[in-house]
Amino acid sequence: MLKADSPLRYLQGVGPRRAASLAALGVETVEDLLYALPFRYEDRRAFGRIGALRPGGAEVALAVRVERSRLIRTRRPGFTIFEAWLRDESGTIRAVWYNQPFLQRVFPAGRRAVVFGRASLDRHGRELVLENPDHEILDEADAEGIHTGRIVPVYRKLGELSSRMQRTLIFRLLESLPAGALPEPVPREIGSRHGLLPRLEALRQTHFPPPDSEPDDLAARRSLAQRSLAFEEIFLLQLGLAVRRFGFREEERGISYAVPDALRTRLARLLPFRLTAAQKRVLREIRADLESPHPMRRLLQGDVGSGKTIVALLAMLVAVENGYQAALMAPTEILAEQHFRSLSRLLEQKGADYRLVLLAGSLRSARRREALAEMESGAAQIVVGTHALFEPKVRFRRLGLVVVDEQHRFGVLQRAALAGKGVRPDVLVMTATPIPRSLALTVYGDLDLSVIDELPPGRTPIRTLVRGEAERERVYEGVRIAVSQGQQAYVVVPLVEETEKTDLKAATAFAKRLGEQVFPDLRVGLVHGRLKGEGKEEVMRAFVEKRIQVLVATTVIEVGVDVPNATVMVVEHAERFGLSQLHQLRGRVGRGSARSYCVLMVAEDGIGRDARERLRIMEETSDGFRIAEKDLELRGPGVVFGTQQHGLSDLQFLSLVLRDSALLESARTEAHALVNRGAEGRALAQAVLGSLRGAWKRRLGLAEVG
Ligand code: ADP
Ligand code: MG
Repeated sequence: MLKADSPLRYLQGVGPRRAASLAALGVETVEDLLYALPFRYEDRRAFGRIGALRPGGAEVALAVRVERSRLIRTRRPGFTIFEAWLRDESGTIRAVWYNQPFLQRVFPAGRRAVVFGRASLDRHGRELVLENPDHEILDEADAEGIHTGRIVPVYRKLGELSSRMQRTLIFRLLESLPAGALPEPVPREIGSRHGLLPRLEALRQTHFPPPDSEPDDLAARRSLAQRSLAFEEIFLLQLGLAVRRFGFREEERGISYAVPDALRTRLARLLPFRLTAAQKRVLREIRADLESPHPMRRLLQGDVGSGKTIVALLAMLVAVENGYQAALMAPTEILAEQHFRSLSRLLEQKGADYRLVLLAGSLRSARRREALAEMESGAAQIVVGTHALFEPKVRFRRLGLVVVDEQHRFGVLQRAALAGKGVRPDVLVMTATPIPRSLALTVYGDLDLSVIDELPPGRTPIRTLVRGEAERERVYEGVRIAVSQGQQAYVVVPLVEETEKTDLKAATAFAKRLGEQVFPDLRVGLVHGRLKGEGKEEVMRAFVEKRIQVLVATTVIEVGVDVPNATVMVVEHAERFGLSQLHQLRGRVGRGSARSYCVLMVAEDGIGRDARERLRIMEETSDGFRIAEKDLELRGPGVVFGTQQHGLSDLQFLSLVLRDSALLESARTEAHALVNRGAEGRALAQAVLGSLRGAWKRRLGLAEVG
């Protein structure tokens, strides 16, 4: 009898060879195959008619026979066009596919097929065509009605299995699977409480939606069946995180800092401004963590310029006042140095007497030795640095708190290595990447989340303008005006890879031209990632001290650089940047009270639809959260956050989760409730997790944090 963990070779239609090729993809069992979900659906409940097609109409499925076809080799080498004339009882239409010469074999005259696409007018505006439609051969009779007469699932090719073969396989599998073959990992009472389908039924309806399903719901992955599976996925993920977190909360005794009112008052006096309400709220949350005997594991999220650093500083001073050391870790040397400078300046202003030390890779060896000695003796109270902080040779005497800035640049391991240097240090992770809350809860399920959702007062909103080559002179004029008022400007040039020499040469040439021809009377500087620590610092210092008026920069200035006097940012080839990146860049201006401008320069031609959309959003909003959500929508989480770090690509329902945070929150709440229900609840949770196999284990394991 088939069970969830039956190997696939027992299925009809899967021989040893196919089974092996699937196993290589991590699909080994019946359960694995069932969780290879369709990535889209085609409505084949009724076929469209060729005679009724209109240009630009809806996407339709057509049941056709191939009348004739031919392969055209063009003058462009390697570029081919395959044409097929397709007919149904209402008419004929030409379909074209580019660079798929193998279709010649797929579509000989006489073949029956289903094609799916949208009709459009050809180049001359005369004839209707189908360009690159999806297609599926329908040679065998489809007596069971697997492939027609319903909303059919379309699968990504799985090894040697075409979408159509998978459909057949899964259809038969679902038919032969006895009730109870798949154990329910989500306790049934929880599922029913949320009106969700049992697992097998949810899988059945996700693969083969009932006839009355809404195609739009299916496409958005919000049918009841899909929501049930999404809940299951998030519930299990959160359960794993909650169990682990509970475990270390129990075992790990951290530091319990004292935060008496007198200390708070004293620290508050160090600030040159009043904290925003959001900063105060977040500080209350952090304070509770610091006072509690459990180590803090908190993600502090706030848009660029929202004032995270001050919050972190106050937390570090609490640690210091309790006799511990605190470390602040930045992703780049520039940022570490800048943090060091601004924290030193702030503390000096008010005559506060704390010992701050910078540990950067660029330090000369004597200064470095000195810093290391101070860290080891405990004389250094606050240490600011880069990854140099967790080299094996580095020792702290009494590390109590670790603040990690711009976490998304750091690997989990590095963070763990640093945490290992203290007793049980508290960890505060700061990020300006405005991860939507729902995503943060998914990925950082074992971190607590604090959000600063308010900017300090007195900022004038930045004006964002998209400009083309024709307006370049006027843009430069704008830069000149700002500089004549004593302000400064950034000109950002794209650098695909910091290591790409040609890009770098282009940036250098650009800066040179700008300095010699466009602004011969202004002081133009250049900073890029390949400058060595000191060289970079020298340029940045010159900019901070206004000795440079126009700074040509690559994206090294993307994170955290803080020069409030800079009011103009010109981004060259803005169409090449991702949304989140543009947002981070734009955050470098608008940090003072003067009106700031962000000019997005675009090449005249060759901007794709996505790029246009990105620029439009930049003009329209400065809300980092909205921008992040858009970015995810346009590029997907893998690209935005880097899959390696998060294993997000393995979450099947991430896109739904992003849009449906209520579902996510209820899954999370249920998981936490179960784990906190006492020994019996935890035993159940352990049993649930223990019963997970294969792909599930991998999925959940990948999302580990800290
Ligand atoms: P983030 O690290 O979140 O990007 P910063 O901590 O660097 O933001 O703060 C950005 C700027 O705003 C800094 O110049 C900082 O001194 C200033 N700032 C922070 N909090 C406040 C506040 N409550 N009122 C006024 N200015 C503030
Ligand atoms: Mg910052």
